[in-house]
Amino acid sequence: MSIRRSIYIFAGYMAGLPVLLLLVCLAAPQPDQAQAAARAEQTPKQVLVILASDSRMPWYEIVAQTISDTFRATPKPFTIALHLEYAGLDRNFNEPYTQRLRDLYQNKYAGKRIDLVIAAADMSLKFLLKYRESLFAGVPIVYIVEPEMAAKVRALPNMTGIVGTARIKDNLELALKLHPDTKHVAVVSGASDYDHFYETKAREIFINYEDRLDFIYLSGLPSDELLAKLGKLPPKTIAFYTLITRDGAGLNIIPRAELPLLTRTTKAPVYGLWDTLLGSGIIGGYLSSAELAGTEAARLGLRILSGETAGSIPCVKGCYAYMFDWRQMRKWGLDKSDLPPGSIVRYEEFSFWDLYKWRLILFAFLLVVAVVGYIKVRTRAYEKRLKEKERIQKHLERQVEERTAGLQAANTELARLSNIDGLTSLYNRRFLDAKLEDEWKRHLRSGSPLSMLLCDLDYFKQFNDNYGHQAGDNCLVAVAQAIKKVLKRPSDIGARYGGEEFALLLINTDLDGALKIARDIQEAIHDLAIPHEASRVAPLVTISIGVVSMIPQRQGEADALVLLADQALYQSKHGGRNRIEMIDPRSQG
Ligand code: GH3
Ligand code: MG
Ligand code: MG
Repeated sequence: MSIRRSIYIFAGYMAGLPVLLLLVCLAAPQPDQAQAAARAEQTPKQVLVILASDSRMPWYEIVAQTISDTFRATPKPFTIALHLEYAGLDRNFNEPYTQRLRDLYQNKYAGKRIDLVIAAADMSLKFLLKYRESLFAGVPIVYIVEPEMAAKVRALPNMTGIVGTARIKDNLELALKLHPDTKHVAVVSGASDYDHFYETKAREIFINYEDRLDFIYLSGLPSDELLAKLGKLPPKTIAFYTLITRDGAGLNIIPRAELPLLTRTTKAPVYGLWDTLLGSGIIGGYLSSAELAGTEAARLGLRILSGETAGSIPCVKGCYAYMFDWRQMRKWGLDKSDLPPGSIVRYEEFSFWDLYKWRLILFAFLLVVAVVGYIKVRTRAYEKRLKEKERIQKHLERQVEERTAGLQAANTELARLSNIDGLTSLYNRRFLDAKLEDEWKRHLRSGSPLSMLLCDLDYFKQFNDNYGHQAGDNCLVAVAQAIKKVLKRPSDIGARYGGEEFALLLINTDLDGALKIARDIQEAIHDLAIPHEASRVAPLVTISIGVVSMIPQRQGEADALVLLADQALYQSKHGGRNRIEMIDPRSQG
């Protein structure tokens, strides 16, 4: 690229810069324009709601409230200044009144540029149409009207709205479905034009049902008369309340305020057409909803305020909902399952159980857990104490048993010791005497012979004198051992009967047997060969024995055996010692 060409290009850019700057400046909003746009956003949109009735009518109050609430709750790039006019047109639609109203509004809103008018109910729209040009020329309108009214304005520009009417047919059908045995329908309506409007609609529809239902029209009656008639309706009647805004006596009536009295008076279930009446004693039905109508009107209004053309927005067809009063349902034995799907049930009363069910269940559960836990802990503690008690008890029992066993052993040992001679370990005289008594009785029963030997060491005093007392003891022990050896039968009893005397009781042993034992003893002592130098019969220790054998004849004569044995011993001593003498009682007679 040549330098010249570069210079041209650079010059070209430099020339274009001022043009670009000019364009940017033109495109950017001028300070005045920007401020005006900001002001426009800050200036609230002026919305006027003209309500056909005065403020005491609940339907209008609810519509106005819901419009206001919906405006407030919907996010939008502008603010809204809402003006509510309770026009009182429903009872005063006459030339002088409407003109004065027009003048009032002209004055009132002269300085304000109204952006939107909402006409609540037919009369409001009628008034607006009449004075639109002088009052709100070119201002878009949103209406809430009956179909008849909507038909009249269909061709008019810059307006849209909600078109609907009370669902008389639907509600009659619903009532007949919920009360299938219905025979009569009492149609309750008032005396105002508005009341007649709905009564006429009802009559047009009900005429198609007259072949199966008896319709009782209670129309335009003074309140007292109406109440009296409602109180006397025949069984199987449903009351169909269209509307009473004025009674036959010319008194203006607020339906919601008067309806509870009517529903209390009649024994028939009462059906109505508007949600504003729910809670006043009607069961419910497919109701025109003021709340829904207000919400929809506000939504349409917001669309228009955001820039849509009112004429391009199609009308909304009615705002209805199946709505029921739970208290009336209960009164007439209706269950939720009887109602059409999606029904709204209001005024539901919840029992204490309904309200606190889960809390109560949780509380009960926790209580049960706590009680079970407490019982478990207590049971465990109790079981532990019980086990401890049992353990101590067993320990004590064991101790007692051990002690008892020890005592028994000690007693046995004591008894044994009390029966045993300490020096020779033979039985002692006490034991032998006791045993003799027993054996005497036993032998008396069996008739068998019982023998006794009395043995006495010869010249034992001299033995002691000669060898010493200890040697004497040793000798006595040796003699006792020898006697024990001779006694082979365990039933035979060898006892130390006195100092150096021994007695032997031989069970079931006759004289011959006893003599043999005596000889064996003598021989055994001889075999001991204990030296006894001081003896006068032999150089060894010798023994003299007296033997007796008896078959016991009478009780209590056991002593005789000892006595005779002693006599025999005596004979043995006197006969020269170291010998055996016997006494045979049979030979003595
Ligand atoms: P006899 O031949 O007439 O029987 O004369 P004896 O000396 O044996 O009889 P006596 O009745 O005169 O004396 C019995 C003696 O036995 C008296 C005592 O010295 C002795 N004696 C008695 N009991 C015991 C004892 O337990 N130990 C000792 N060592 N001697 C005893
Ligand atoms: Mg002696
Ligand atoms: Mg002796």
